[in-house]
Amino acid sequence: MKKILMFALGALLLSPAVADLFSEQDLNTARELRERALARDGGFDVVADLTTRIGPRMAGTEADARAVAWAESLLNETGFDRVWLQPVTFPTWHRKLERAVVTAPVEFDMVTLALGFSPATPQGGIEAEVVMFDTLADLEAADRSQVEGRIVFIRNRMEAARDGSGYGPAVQARSIGARVAAQKGGSALMIRSIGTSRNRFAHTGTQRFDADTRALPAVAISNPDADRLERLIDMGEPVRALVEVDAEFVEAYTSHNVIAEITGAKYPEQIVALGAHLDSWDVGTGALDDGAGIAIITEAGRLILDLDRRPDRSIHIIYFAAEEIGLWGGRVWAEENADNFHNIQVGAESDFGAGPIYEIAARVSDEAWPVIEAIQNELAPLGIALGGRRAMGGPDFIPSAPFGMAAVDLRQDGTTYFDYHHTENDTLDKIDPEELAQNAAAYAVFAWLAAQSPVSFGSGERLLADEAARNSE
Ligand SMILES: [Zn+2]
Repeated sequence: MKKILMFALGALLLSPAVADLFSEQDLNTARELRERALARDGGFDVVADLTTRIGPRMAGTEADARAVAWAESLLNETGFDRVWLQPVTFPTWHRKLERAVVTAPVEFDMVTLALGFSPATPQGGIEAEVVMFDTLADLEAADRSQVEGRIVFIRNRMEAARDGSGYGPAVQARSIGARVAAQKGGSALMIRSIGTSRNRFAHTGTQRFDADTRALPAVAISNPDADRLERLIDMGEPVRALVEVDAEFVEAYTSHNVIAEITGAKYPEQIVALGAHLDSWDVGTGALDDGAGIAIITEAGRLILDLDRRPDRSIHIIYFAAEEIGLWGGRVWAEENADNFHNIQVGAESDFGAGPIYEIAARVSDEAWPVIEAIQNELAPLGIALGGRRAMGGPDFIPSAPFGMAAVDLRQDGTTYFDYHHTENDTLDKIDPEELAQNAAAYAVFAWLAAQSPVSFGSGERLLADEAARNSE
């Protein structure tokens, strides 16, 4: 009688299919993780230590090596079952100097940062007339005669949005603008910063590092300076500017992914992979990008380590190397797992600042989707809704997508993220420990339940087959 009543109550709350997926004990553990996480600060101590002791840690610098040593000792001291380094080799670049000055019809300095992989200009810089384009597409459509011998200025504006959707369309001007300008005989590239800040900070970022792109010096100017330059050009007189860059290109440097494991009790070979990237840009202290992600996944790992039992599957905490300059750590991780993706239960990376998570989306097999619904049910008290079935798992898991890796996106509110992204202003004070704790709670609950899931998320052949079937419908 009592049993029947309880079943009836359960059915009111959840469909039986979902309610039956996890044992009551596993669900209770998930709830305990959630509540314990919320009572703490989300790993704020981790990002505070990283940004204070190490500071900016651009891939291939001496600070990169110090960050790897810091990470290895932190993860060992935390008590993970196993910690190891995975070598990652990549080309890199060091900034030495950058300058952008309007020289006529008035003279003023602009706040600027060279873009990653920009070559140096001749000493003293390049001075030329400025030609302005609204977008990269307009530059692509332009006649060579409009561009030749001029400094190209692309003014496209990034729009702020909760999901960061303004970034993709705007960032192409940074990624390949110099290549397109070079093909048309331009002498240098200036872009409006790819960012939403109204403060006088320039936003740096990488370009493709191929020889064509590296043919032309490239800088980003702060948005208020871009506004002034636009107004000046719109007044109709020819505007001239000077761009100077000094920088060094380095053919090959070896850093490391740093990986820590909580060894699974039942299926140690199966892995729930939580990622963040350890490298940052060379400006600011990389607090939001991606010190916050390092804090969140480390805190999630600590919460699970503190339980009185181990999860069924293993959980890996991965600090990826050299994300900012080309996803190099993510590429190595994908290659190393090329024959092992059937054992990767799921990948999820935290790399979108420290804003609260509002939605879970998942790329999993059809069979595993009810598990995602059941996980979302435990995330709902954190204000996290169920999203759709498209997910990449974050930038460092992009190279794993062709292998059919199951991926989960715990989507953060990024409305203000691009005010600070890749600027001198990306510092610890921008992180709210309460919001960080909400993130850590979500990652702990998600990782725990993904490790306890009665079904595989379908990584590898099965997920690829499911997707092919869905796409053909
Ligand atoms: Zn990042």
